[in-house]
Amino acid sequence: MSDTSKNLSQVIREKMKRDNKRFWAGDNISDYVDDNVKPELIDEATEAFERVLDSLLIDRETDPNSKGIARRLAKMYFNEIMAGRYDPRPDATAFPNDSDDRYEGMLVVRSELRSMCSHHHQPVSGVAYIGIIAASKLIGLSKYTRIAQWCARRGTLQEELANDIAREIAKATGATDVGVYVQAVHGCCENRGIMAHSSLTQTTVLMGAFKNDQGTKKEFFDNIKLQQDFAPR
Ligand SMILES: [Zn+2]
Repeated sequence: MSDTSKNLSQVIREKMKRDNKRFWAGDNISDYVDDNVKPELIDEATEAFERVLDSLLIDRETDPNSKGIARRLAKMYFNEIMAGRYDPRPDATAFPNDSDDRYEGMLVVRSELRSMCSHHHQPVSGVAYIGIIAASKLIGLSKYTRIAQWCARRGTLQEELANDIAREIAKATGATDVGVYVQAVHGCCENRGIMAHSSLTQTTVLMGAFKNDQGTKKEFFDNIKLQQDFAPR
């Protein structure tokens, strides 16, 4: 980057604004951040976290547990808990499902999720049940979970997360009949605020037949029930 008076994040933010690219906590910005710029962004975030820790009056110099925490935080945000913002969508090769013996039934995949709430940056952990009526393409079973986790590893609201998963699964499979049911516990309710340790939130997004056909909807929830009996949350 040529303008040395600006730090890298500033340059990238200005570019996204010029492009009218939204960069909310739950948005993917992989077109603007790749592995070449990540190390510099991590350096920048490290310095910023150091300032936060200093303001919190945490001794980064002599407390052995607090040494290096700023860099650990910076790396954790970019590479782990918010990786879904910076990484491109996982590759999900689609296989044709259009021969005479194509699969026409419902597919329900259970995906474990770890996310983070946009409001407090507290952990969200739960599970998504993703249902589709197979269309002309199929993707590998593990890809449903990879896509769901890619949507989850950002700052999210659970309602948005369910929507994002449904939209991305529809995109990857070409299916118009998609159902997503997310069940999660929220750190921001458990660790602070109301301190409710059993707070469980459920959100459902139904598209196509999952929404309009009572039989399909019932089959989806029956399948979820079967999965839950098999693998309790
Ligand atoms: Zn929260």
